[in-house]
Amino acid sequence: MSEPRPVVSHGASIELENLSKRYPGSPYPSVDGVSMEIRAGETVVFVGPSGCGKSTTLKMINRLIEPSGGRIRIDGEDVTDIDPVGLRRKVGYAIQSSGLFPHMTVAQNIALVPGMAGWPKARIRRRVKEMLDLVGLDPGEFHGRYPRQLSGGQQQRVGVARALAADPPVLLMDEPFGAVDPITRDHLQDELIRLQQELHKTIVFVTHDFDEAIKLGDRIAVLRERSHIAQFDTPEAILTNPADDFVSGFVGAGAALKRLNLTRVRDVEITDCPTVAVDDPLQTIFNRLRADGTNEILMLDRHGRPYKWLRRGDLMRARGSLARAGTLVSDTVTKDATLRDALEAVLTDNTGRAAVTGRRGEYVGVVDMETLLNSVHELLEADRLEAMQARHDLEESRSAQTHAEQEGHGGEVKA
Ligand code: ADP
Ligand code: MG
Repeated sequence: MSEPRPVVSHGASIELENLSKRYPGSPYPSVDGVSMEIRAGETVVFVGPSGCGKSTTLKMINRLIEPSGGRIRIDGEDVTDIDPVGLRRKVGYAIQSSGLFPHMTVAQNIALVPGMAGWPKARIRRRVKEMLDLVGLDPGEFHGRYPRQLSGGQQQRVGVARALAADPPVLLMDEPFGAVDPITRDHLQDELIRLQQELHKTIVFVTHDFDEAIKLGDRIAVLRERSHIAQFDTPEAILTNPADDFVSGFVGAGAALKRLNLTRVRDVEITDCPTVAVDDPLQTIFNRLRADGTNEILMLDRHGRPYKWLRRGDLMRARGSLARAGTLVSDTVTKDATLRDALEAVLTDNTGRAAVTGRRGEYVGVVDMETLLNSVHELLEADRLEAMQARHDLEESRSAQTHAEQEGHGGEVKA
């Protein structure tokens, strides 16, 4: 199956210089002199407690909120003074509960910004289809629906499609997955990661959920009150080396386990398991089990998606009909899912492994408990070695210092 490849521009750098916001009537600024540089094509996550100024900072980037002071540059161009409508074409924006217009169809919602930008009708029509494909919704099925005819997850996908429709280099996302259930949220996060691998936009993503930040961010800015930056670094660096008590409080307990969020299913061994199709005759299934010398086989539905696990015993009891035999597959993971998601799926599915699926939900392999346990073990081991090395380095430099002082060199340390 060949899918249309959207024509895309890549990301743009964003520079915030001493950016501030004081709301009228407020005795102190809500955002107080934030400076940071975001590179073209990277995903930066703002994470911090409620009310610390994340949304205010984000909305100043596309001037939904006018700054009280400071500068914003996108690809070096100062946007503090350019017209806000022009800015919409450079900066896509997606928010919680999708923010779709309820009286407009999915297609009309997605066409909004390209329409404002004066694109010809045929180009807009093509673009809407392309965008629906991109976010994994069948254009034929969805373009004429109204938002209320979609699930929360589907609405959120349309929200992302709309934000990307005019192909802006920058995408701002304010807790976009905050209102959906945890399983849908996991899937939306995986899809955003997949999209970003294709599109290389510059994404600024706001959340108060540190696990989400670790999963999505190339770098994370941990913000405290008034958007003061407590730490701005990679997830690995923040987990292994939190700058202060505020950051470690945010990282929370179980930092080692959280490292599971840093490893993807694609990074570990995905194995194959015997499969049969839902329409295969019972005899074929028996033969398959015997030939593979295994006790368990995965049945796929008519679209090639994992459907249920069948054990030998299930077949014995089935007496000619498989309709009720076996255990339904309750959770699957994609290659972009984290090992933590995979672990959860394995524990939920109760078969010691989780099925891995592709973009359209089709079966691509399995990850098993043993692989996951080995990876956890390796991660923990690596953490331990790193901590030991850090202690060792510290002691070395201390003793070098003491030595130098005794020699009368006044604390000068030689490498
Ligand atoms: P966050 O997104 O981190 O939860 P916000 O940026 O929404 O935080 O809010 C930061 C601070 O600014 C809060 O103290 C909030 O009460 C205040 N604030 C936000 N919007 C307004 C507004 N329109 N008028 C006055 N104060 C506001
Ligand atoms: Mg907010």
